[in-house]
Amino acid sequence: MGGNVKRNGKLINISNTCTIDYYLLAFWYLSKIKKIFYQNETNTQKVQIINEILISIENLNWERARELWTFEINNFNLEENFNSISLFGSEYEKFFQHISIFQRYNLIQRCKKTCIQNNKLIRDDSDNLFFKKINNRVVIYTGYNDKCHICKINKNPRIKLKDNPDFLIIQSINSNIYLNELPKQFRIGKNIFPFLCATIHRRNHFIGIFEVNEELFVIDDLDQSMTPLPSYDKNKPSHFYRYKTTLSLYFLI
Ligand SMILES: [Zn+2]
Repeated sequence: MGGNVKRNGKLINISNTCTIDYYLLAFWYLSKIKKIFYQNETNTQKVQIINEILISIENLNWERARELWTFEINNFNLEENFNSISLFGSEYEKFFQHISIFQRYNLIQRCKKTCIQNNKLIRDDSDNLFFKKINNRVVIYTGYNDKCHICKINKNPRIKLKDNPDFLIIQSINSNIYLNELPKQFRIGKNIFPFLCATIHRRNHFIGIFEVNEELFVIDDLDQSMTPLPSYDKNKPSHFYRYKTTLSLYFLI
């Protein structure tokens, strides 16, 4: 999907926007459920632009929304005689890395109760969170895997979220995580995060899966379609369950 925008008097085509469309739509949808991107001191300039993007989507002006994302957030440079921009690539590069500052957390050591390292800060200001399949279950993974250097015990470190994030975007760390395996919600500390949407990757194209009123829908930005996702049938799963998930968005109730 894509479209033409006017920038500095020049007509520019922005294409392959499936790396950004679903999560922009997700932000808009989330803004209907709760207040997001307000009172956020993390990056006021970015918050302002994102709010302008949400207003553009509300007004069904996707061209303007994509233009703002491409030039003001993604910081694409327009060179001379350059009249087309492709957002082809990874969702991490084109989308997630630009908003990861809104989901920062600290990582706290969990080892032997009596160890002096227990409950110590081991990593400051992280933002990447992953889904990883361990013993056939998909769990939150921080990428941190070291043993305590004193007691040699290795427990999953505790995630301590900063600034009560409105949402968390989780990356599937391996290509073996499928829609039916994603948790419906997860808890971090006292906070519960239910599922809002995920993306799956099929033939160089991303497809969105959104939960709306407790039902799942397939959204494709190519034809702007929204169709119910067939429920998971172990013996004969619909093909959507065979493509790997890439990112998933959960929100703070
Ligand atoms: Zn220890």
